[in-house]
Amino acid sequence: MLGSRLLCLFNRHRPARETVAWNGHAFVGKCKRCDAEIRRRDEGGWRRQTATEEPIFKVQ
Ligand SMILES: [Zn+2]
Repeated sequence: MLGSRLLCLFNRHRPARETVAWNGHAFVGKCKRCDAEIRRRDEGGWRRQTATEEPIFKVQ
């Protein structure tokens, strides 16, 4: 749907429930709309993983 894809363009994603996991620091997962690797922010909402953050799905 165009409306929801637009949210992804603005880095506002929705996780696919089955991909969500705790990596030791944050909840991480994949966006069900655009398949980006995303993580849940402390303040809420899901944002695309950035290069300055620790690798996604890293196991401690
Ligand atoms: Zn997305």
